[in-house]
Amino acid sequence: METLGHFVGGKQVEGRSNRTHDIYDPVRGTVRRQVSLATAEEVREAIGRAQDAFPAWAAVNPQRRARVMFEFKRLVEKDKDRLAKLLSEEHGKTVPDAMGDVQRGLEVIEFSCGIPHLQKGEYTEGAGPDIDVYSMRQPLGVCAGITPFNFPAMIPMWMFGPAIAAGNTFINKPSERDPSVPLRLAELMMEAGAPEGVLNVVNGDKEAVDTILEDPRVKAVSFVGSSDIAQYIYATGTAHNKRVQAFGGAKNHMVVLPDADMENAASQLVGSAYGSAGERCMATPVVVPVGDGTAERLIEALKPKIEALRIGPSDQDVDIGPLVTKEHKERVRGWIDRAVEEGQEVLVDGRDQGVEGYEDGFFMGATLLDKVKPEHESYKQEIFGPVLQIVRADTLEEAIRLPSEHQYGNGVAIFTASGSAARKFAQEVEVGMVGVNVPIPVPVAYHSFGGWKRSGFGDTNQHGPEGVRFWTKVKTVTQRWDWDEELGASEFVIPTMK
Ligand code: NAD
Repeated sequence: METLGHFVGGKQVEGRSNRTHDIYDPVRGTVRRQVSLATAEEVREAIGRAQDAFPAWAAVNPQRRARVMFEFKRLVEKDKDRLAKLLSEEHGKTVPDAMGDVQRGLEVIEFSCGIPHLQKGEYTEGAGPDIDVYSMRQPLGVCAGITPFNFPAMIPMWMFGPAIAAGNTFINKPSERDPSVPLRLAELMMEAGAPEGVLNVVNGDKEAVDTILEDPRVKAVSFVGSSDIAQYIYATGTAHNKRVQAFGGAKNHMVVLPDADMENAASQLVGSAYGSAGERCMATPVVVPVGDGTAERLIEALKPKIEALRIGPSDQDVDIGPLVTKEHKERVRGWIDRAVEEGQEVLVDGRDQGVEGYEDGFFMGATLLDKVKPEHESYKQEIFGPVLQIVRADTLEEAIRLPSEHQYGNGVAIFTASGSAARKFAQEVEVGMVGVNVPIPVPVAYHSFGGWKRSGFGDTNQHGPEGVRFWTKVKTVTQRWDWDEELGASEFVIPTMK
């Protein structure tokens, strides 16, 4: 069986470790290939290659670095069909959805092509007598990205696009569940003209991650994954004096007011709750209808749409593919069982819905649960599967409180015809990304992405101007080239304004 290795110093390298991880074909439930899990020594070697490549890459002028990004974009576009197929094979999301995964990553590469402008510093002439002040944004050095299984194209590109464009060198540690696309992206980056060692991919698990977190040559770490790991990465990375941003799990709510267009709200909700089998950090696993009448109208509109969902092999004309692994499928099932024990009403039960001819695949139907209460554990925790929970609220204020008081604060949406209600909601809700009549409010590449509370540890968001700030540090120069006797005299006190 094929065993994937790593991509270091401009080429594919075989893994030397005796530990491997199985990569599945989620449609058939079989092992498709394996991936080698790097030893600490292998990770350190990759960091060394990235460190060696850094001074020369940082010295390349920003316009030339941008040209590598332009070429990378062209190559990824050319390879898009193959990348989407490879992604879908290991992840299980449908091929068109995998195409979207590649596309949303590429949009950040497009944004990164503007690095000559984005990285420009500031200048003040005459800040003091014959003194000028300027600041520059310099790259940090070796940077790392630790990425999750659910967006194996988009999230690596969100990280390494702006990082590399700004003059850093990079190590991506992708999810061990679907590492083929990140490996292919590194190959394409070399083909685009990035020097060897500028983008490396090291496959591995906790051992590889801990090596990255502890090595003093790594200056910054961006993480996306579940919240407990995000918190661990943030605490460990910052304790080792690194700049860290760590994005965690989510439990996004969609509030539906009585004046919403119910057909539209239900259509949008079915897509955002069950698309990609609910394995999206910006999925909508909770809906909050305001008023029982709204809840009944929404359920009536939702049920036939859920029953019409087509579930099947990811490369066929279906709406939803399988979950990523058997273990994850069982976890999701466990949460639905728990919800039933907690007293929730099962309006649609997808637990035993399989796909004929693919009995060993990790398929699961869509589930709809009503009468969910904020104190239920299955509401408090992320399920990350095709499960939608209905939490009924009596007022807009209560509907604002629910997502605001939840431990996660990634995304939230409101569906309404009232501008005034939407404005109040957007201003008051304690969540990082808000949609108004938009179910999955993922900001476009030139804005920035990030959640609040246990959905995001650290100060800066991903991509957009915030991403450029994260991957660069400011140096400020105060200079004087001319002086006379008075200006050149010794000063023993801090000068005050006159
Ligand atoms: P995960 O936390 O299991 O894994 C993420 C990364 O961390 C992987 O590279 C993995 O190898 C590594 N890792 C796992 N356990 C580790 C450990 N003990 N020590 C060090 N590293 C470890 O997450 P996942 O299952 O791959 O992805 C799904 C999760 O990611 C969900 O919680 C989802 O909400 C979240 N997510 C969040 C965002 C966001 O922007 N907030 C985006 C996508 C996914």
